[in-house]
Amino acid sequence: MRGQAATAAARPVMTTFGRLRWIKAPALRAIRVRGMFRQVGPPPMTKPMKPEDLVVEAPLYAAHQKVYPQSVSGTFRTVKWALMGFCLGVYYLTPFIRWDRGPDAPSQAVLVDLANARFYFFFIEIWPQEVYYFTGLLIIAAMVLFLMNAVGGRIWCGYLCPQTVWTDLFFAVERLIEGDRRERLRKDKQRVTPRRVGELAAKHALWLMIAWWTGGAWVLYFADAPTLVKSLATLQAPFVAYLWIGILTFTTYTLAGFMREQVCVYMCPWPRIQAALTDEWALNVTYRHDRGEPRTSVKKAAELRAHRLPAGDCVDCAQCVAVCPTGIDIRDGAQLGCIMCGLCIDACDNVMAKVGRPTGLIAYDNDINIKRRLEGKENVYRLVRPRTLVYAGMIALVGGIMLYTLATRAFLDISVLHDRNPLAVMLSDGAVRNAYTVRLLNKRGHFRTLSLGVHGLPHARVQVVGSDAAIEGRPYIAVGPDQTAELRVLVTVPAGSQLEKSTELTFRASDTDMAETATARDHFILP
Ligand code: SF4
Ligand code: SF4
Repeated sequence: MRGQAATAAARPVMTTFGRLRWIKAPALRAIRVRGMFRQVGPPPMTKPMKPEDLVVEAPLYAAHQKVYPQSVSGTFRTVKWALMGFCLGVYYLTPFIRWDRGPDAPSQAVLVDLANARFYFFFIEIWPQEVYYFTGLLIIAAMVLFLMNAVGGRIWCGYLCPQTVWTDLFFAVERLIEGDRRERLRKDKQRVTPRRVGELAAKHALWLMIAWWTGGAWVLYFADAPTLVKSLATLQAPFVAYLWIGILTFTTYTLAGFMREQVCVYMCPWPRIQAALTDEWALNVTYRHDRGEPRTSVKKAAELRAHRLPAGDCVDCAQCVAVCPTGIDIRDGAQLGCIMCGLCIDACDNVMAKVGRPTGLIAYDNDINIKRRLEGKENVYRLVRPRTLVYAGMIALVGGIMLYTLATRAFLDISVLHDRNPLAVMLSDGAVRNAYTVRLLNKRGHFRTLSLGVHGLPHARVQVVGSDAAIEGRPYIAVGPDQTAELRVLVTVPAGSQLEKSTELTFRASDTDMAETATARDHFILP
């Protein structure tokens, strides 16, 4: 039972499965205790109920109903096409962008180099010990999502989420081959003919091709793209590449081709989290029922207006439902199934233009403004409020810290580990020797010659095992571009040195050509 057919005693509720059901009030209270429904629409009726009214009309299982979205034109559809093109372009083409990092470094602009534990992003190179940058990126991503939510509800879902983008692409292919909503509905009901089989085969072939390209593009982020494309084409790529392409082909084909809106309604956690994070000022796609109701036909509305009787602008044409990619009726109020794509706005605006009424019957709005308009007040929009300021501030702060650390990051690093056993060795002449494992990290894209010394230990002699290159008692080590050198280093103090049982010392690696040094502290131990 829906819309006007509902009795006064029943109220619309949204099930956790995203379906609207009309339920009588006492039953609703009992069910709400179990947390299964949330109310949408107008406030409850307070009329006392009889025992026979305690009937729940909502099934706990909602059978899947295929959605046949109709094509639509308008501002939001154009924005969606543009963002879809942008997102797909970025995803498919980024691996082919080249970036010159010198002869010994990869020339792919964005590359996850698992073999060497590096991540390259244009001029930025992240080493394993710098994974905190990813933490920063994750914080920024979460804050951007929260900010979007505070400003425009689920606009991420409606415009940028990969599930939406690929489903939209698959819908476009379906429409191209099978026709628009009415044709698809008709064809699905008709007997299967050879022509229909051909259409279905062409659609699934195109879907599989897109899904395969999606999986193929994914693996190109993990190896040199042109080289991998060649080896994939000649069937000489590693097995793991084919495996990942297979997995992503399957998931793309299934999620965008078949599961579609069910991913948004049943599988994705974001709508549930989003509902907890939003507030009353967020602009959601809203049916302005203050303007639309009572809904009636164009002719009847004209007659009512001629007699100065109230008539809403909604002509009950259901165009807003027909274009909805999740198949819901936005006139039923805020719903879990609404991804805020704005296509119903375009559909309704087109209808309003045809019937000569002002556009914006469905719009990005909120319940505060509906209430204000009913009270004869002006709309109020509050994009700048504490919530949005906190999110924007967090983005600026974390982004600023990341930029600062990136701008001032060292390209030379050193780490030292003292031998555990033995801690110290007394030599035959009375000198004492400690051994260390020293790692030198050259983060630049060219060979570097580094001198190694210790400070805080007078008269100490430093030796690198296996290397005699030294000037004035300081060993010299060559470290390749973007490489780590692990050295075994012996530090010896002469007999009779007046030292504590444990003396702090500092290892210092210095570039012989440029003013760059790196230091690390450890201890020198006496036997
Ligand atoms: S109700 Fe409107 S905004 Fe929501 S998903 Fe459907 S078409 Fe998009
Ligand atoms: S498209 Fe507009 S006029 Fe038509 S049913 Fe939806 S809200 Fe009413």
